Amino acid sequence: MRCAHWRRVPLDLAREACEKSAALYVDTAVQCQLSSHDESEHFGLLTDNGPWGTALWLRWRGTDEPELLVLPDCPVAAPGPDGDGCCLFVDHAEQHTWEDTPEEAPCTS
Ligand SMILES: [Zn+2]
Ligand SMILES: [Zn+2]
Repeated sequence: MRCAHWRRVPLDLAREACEKSAALYVDTAVQCQLSSHDESEHFGLLTDNGPWGTALWLRWRGTDEPELLVLPDCPVAAPGPDGDGCCLFVDHAEQHTWEDTPEEAPCTS
């Protein structure tokens, strides 16, 4: 099950995300991409159009100010010759997206 937390993206971070990536715009709100987890940090994907092999993420915890992060893609793919890639970032907590049920883990791009 995907984490159900959403967060509004502050305007200044949205602008910064566009400057750091090839994206023309980013969503005004993002959903945490991790599998459901305890009250730890949430990670929402702003754009995967980051510099080569990276994506821009919004990280937040509770009601704290969110942070913009540029993180390398998770390199771990599902086992097998045509295993799915993981949609998350390197060293993420929780499961890889391909370990979750497919309909709960869409790659947004
Ligand atoms: Zn979360
Ligand atoms: Zn992963």
